[in-house]
Amino acid sequence: MALAFVNPNIHPEAEYRLRLDTLSEYASGIGCALIIDDYDPEQWEREAGVFGGPYPLISTADDYQRNLLLRQKRCAACYRLRFSRTAALAVANGANIIGSTLTISPYQFTQLIIAQLDEAARSCGLNAARDDYRPLFPVATRRSRELGMYRQNYCGCHYSEIEAELEREARKKQRKQNQKVRASSDTSVADGNLIECKADDSLDGADNPVGTE
Ligand code: SF4
Repeated sequence: MALAFVNPNIHPEAEYRLRLDTLSEYASGIGCALIIDDYDPEQWEREAGVFGGPYPLISTADDYQRNLLLRQKRCAACYRLRFSRTAALAVANGANIIGSTLTISPYQFTQLIIAQLDEAARSCGLNAARDDYRPLFPVATRRSRELGMYRQNYCGCHYSEIEAELEREARKKQRKQNQKVRASSDTSVADGNLIECKADDSLDGADNPVGTE
């Protein structure tokens, strides 16, 4: 088995290098071969970036649905490009199965990933490992922290960097509103004394919308 780093989507280049260095160190630590694809962000712009963004998942439910559909198109094109290049690398290196670690993320479009992986494998006469690793996400998160690995806070492309920032701001705003509502609803009168209950921070780990990690 070999790992392949196929990420023309990552912006800026310094972030690409940081993620690549992290994986290189891990791969050499476990004694696994690492194949590094050419870094070609211009090709990514032509094939995936053309679908545009940023698409912040904020405001109304209608906004959410519309933005999700727009983002799906861009991400599908991004998966297609990366898996077609992965399949070509697999063929060049004598492998007959390709898989993806992207399915570990609950913030990605898992079904799209599997469909694009299938298509890339089929077009090169390979098999696809169609594993959905999402149940392992908490373990992977904990392990990467234990190992002191660099942890990205956006998916990869320049659109996702802005989207992730907008989503963080929107969640922060929402948390503040929730805390206000809870604080006022938890204010009660007992034995004639006014008791104020402090809002907790339980929403700090609220789910991230798609596209951020
Ligand atoms: S959000 Fe992630 S998967 Fe989607 S286009 Fe950007 S880099 Fe690719």
